Amino acid sequence: MDLFEYQARDLFESHGVPVLMGAVATTAEEAEIAAAKMGGRVVVKAQVKVGGRGKAGGVKLAEDAKDARQKAQGILGMDIKGHTVHQVMIAQAAPIEAEYYLAILLDRANRSFLVMASISGGMDIEQVAHETPEKLARVNIDAHTGLNLTRALEIVKAGGFPDEIASEVADVLMKLWDVFKAEDATLVEVNPLVKTSDGKIIALDGKVTLDESAAFRHPDHEALIDHAATDPLEAQAKEKNLNYVKLDGEVGIIGNGAGLVMSTLDVVAYAGEKFGGVKPANFLDIGGGASAQVMADGLSIILGDPAVKSVFVNVFGGITACDAVANGIVQALEILGASAKKPIVVRLDGNNVIEGRRILAEAAHPLVEQVETMDGAASRAAELAAK
Ligand code: GDP
Ligand code: MN
Repeated sequence: MDLFEYQARDLFESHGVPVLMGAVATTAEEAEIAAAKMGGRVVVKAQVKVGGRGKAGGVKLAEDAKDARQKAQGILGMDIKGHTVHQVMIAQAAPIEAEYYLAILLDRANRSFLVMASISGGMDIEQVAHETPEKLARVNIDAHTGLNLTRALEIVKAGGFPDEIASEVADVLMKLWDVFKAEDATLVEVNPLVKTSDGKIIALDGKVTLDESAAFRHPDHEALIDHAATDPLEAQAKEKNLNYVKLDGEVGIIGNGAGLVMSTLDVVAYAGEKFGGVKPANFLDIGGGASAQVMADGLSIILGDPAVKSVFVNVFGGITACDAVANGIVQALEILGASAKKPIVVRLDGNNVIEGRRILAEAAHPLVEQVETMDGAASRAAELAAK
């Protein structure tokens, strides 16, 4: 989960990372009030989860509260790379002398963490990394040993920081490490980290990504979720404890086991090429114990997706045998009744398949069609979706 800048700022503050005063506002009036409370010059910053706000005109300096109101008026409602600005952060302005860069991230490929540091921070860090990679120190950190102050100081020096501020920057890096570790983040990035004209080191812009798989350890992270931006179908699925991901195609997919569902997506996308390029509409793994209720929950979410034109139920019977799954499908369709309106292609295989197929054949539900092979079923579901 990516955080908004103001949420990252709050998290930084709670771990002792030096930040400036900041407040979030959803209207120009609120922006003016917040700016008046802070006094003096402020920066009005668009809160969108996308980089390059500054260049897109989403970060504006304001001389006073009245000016902040005007700047907020201009920024609220703006579109930045497809993201509409609903909130701005009013931040105390800093007299910037230099802009630096610090980041800690999960480096999956190297099975470690990666710390990056550079004195060439600011809006063009991507360009620095690309054109003058020697100016960006990149140091891998073993997950078991972690980061310590000695190592942090080495990284800061490798990033080109001058001696007189190196220990202060290393101290900030240690605090960022604390954010990264304590909050179970996969990314903590500060760009720019600035030196002010009165010699202070401050994190002026923060980007934080939290690891959702660790959410159970952080009940307080719940409050950081941007519910307005969550896909309504995904939200419904989450409420019902289903592993559902919305995709942009037309064939609804239900399967048991993440691996099977992943390969079902591939097979449907491939089969869809013959039918004008129809694609899978979602990922949905109903897991091993596919009870009638779970099947009904899954089907109702998928059938409720207006983009879905047909459904492919792909089940390989294991501990939960095919007959139980077949009964689940029959009962699910009874639960759903007239609300089920789209064709459903079912492929059953594995444990007790004969009995499973017999149950479905006997029920003879008008929407259900059985196909014995996975490729055949994918092709039929794609064909029905294309009609
Ligand atoms: P980004 O473009 O989304 O990364 O937004 P940032 O928050 O990093 O801001 C972009 C740029 O605006 C920074 O690199 C600074 O040059 C400038 N900026 C941001 N905050 C301040 C501030 O308090 N004072 C001054 N003078 N400039 C600022
Ligand atoms: Mn930035």
